[in-house]
Amino acid sequence: MPLRVYNTLTRRKEEFVPLRGRRVSMFVCGITPHDTTHVGHAKTYVAFDVVARYLRYRGYAVFYVQNVTDIEDRIIEKMQTLGRDWTSLVEEYWAEYLEGMTALRCDSVNLYAKATDYMDEIVRQIQGLLDRGYAYVAEDGSVYYDTTKYAGWGNLSGQKVEEHRPGARVAIDERKRNPADFALWKAQKPGEPAWDGPWGKGRPGWHIEDTAITIHHFGAQYDLHGGGRELAFPHHEAEIAQAEAYTGVAPFVRYWMHGGMLIVKGEEMHKSLGNYWSVADALKVVSPEELRFFLLNAQYRSPIDFTREALDEARAAHRRIRDAVENLRAAEATAKDAGPGDAALRAAAAKAREGFEASMDDDFNTREAVAAVYELVGASNKALESGAGRTAVHEALEAFRAFDQVLAILPGAAADADRVLSGVLDFIVELREEARKRKDFAASDGIRTRLADLGIVLEDTRDGVRWKRR
Ligand SMILES: [Zn+2]
Repeated sequence: MPLRVYNTLTRRKEEFVPLRGRRVSMFVCGITPHDTTHVGHAKTYVAFDVVARYLRYRGYAVFYVQNVTDIEDRIIEKMQTLGRDWTSLVEEYWAEYLEGMTALRCDSVNLYAKATDYMDEIVRQIQGLLDRGYAYVAEDGSVYYDTTKYAGWGNLSGQKVEEHRPGARVAIDERKRNPADFALWKAQKPGEPAWDGPWGKGRPGWHIEDTAITIHHFGAQYDLHGGGRELAFPHHEAEIAQAEAYTGVAPFVRYWMHGGMLIVKGEEMHKSLGNYWSVADALKVVSPEELRFFLLNAQYRSPIDFTREALDEARAAHRRIRDAVENLRAAEATAKDAGPGDAALRAAAAKAREGFEASMDDDFNTREAVAAVYELVGASNKALESGAGRTAVHEALEAFRAFDQVLAILPGAAADADRVLSGVLDFIVELREEARKRKDFAASDGIRTRLADLGIVLEDTRDGVRWKRR
């Protein structure tokens, strides 16, 4: 079965055929580091992490680039409100984002490309668009893209002009020739960070940052562009208009993928609504693997309703998978060569692999893929009950390992052992403290000596006694 991807541009599932054999160039819109990383970000980036992981699983060599919009209106607004330097703001929120992504095991990105590192390419593209008659310079030195010059405007999203929310007042920008035109270069206002351009000091518009990065790394055409649904218009529409007008090559991107929104109890998530969940907040309630599992329990194009009940359900389901794998691991170490449950377990492992791959081949349907994982959980539990041999157990474990290469929802065996060891050591330290309080120095000294023999030393800190590896 070929891999099929839903392409927003053609509005149908298409067989995935990269431009250059087994090599895949993939780009996903990254964050603007101006605020806390939230669970909506987690939904998007976990989804595309799995896309990259599955492509690699299928044998493609993926070059995955994510941009960092490290200069943008919202950064400047925040800089002015807080009276802070914009670079320190960006650094702070960027570090927080990376920490969240590391915790969530989103480690498939090859390159995080910061927009401000591509100023030469940005200026070159804007100049090229001016030379080809697709852009114009306004009186203040800003440069705009003339959307009436580009015939394909609106093809991706089906939208031509930005729809504003009812009641919202729209300020008419005198500098624009047409309402849909967008800034390629924004002339510097007092106090704003700026770079030198042929049209005066200024900074790039948001959309041109992405085409500068992708054309620099991938050339005029590439395979896969992802992002949240809300970015299709005007952001991605603008990227297409810029790139195709600049290079003359179409289509700029072969497959456009858009993820569904994350909502909270049926409402859009907003700080002003008091329903805002940062990744850090969520990780106080669930483990990173549980959060990942929760997010992957839906197909990426579907919206997800983030509620405590849904999280709890996902957590219980995740627990069942984990338990099954732990039981298999334990059985692998102790089981006999063969058992009565072997044939059924082997068949179930093969069937689960097939189901998993068929689901992932169908536009990365992680919801169905998780269902296949679940079937193997049921079969494993049954086989272990009736008695399964080492080889069959090993085969089932291999299937789980294959699934986890893509989903990354199981804590690694090493991480698991480490977690248990830490817990046991904490407990021993507590026991020793109790012995000291009872003035049972023979016991407390004995524990210290035994631990020292194992390479674990105890030290007094302000927060009490701590253990550490020597
Ligand atoms: Zn973008």
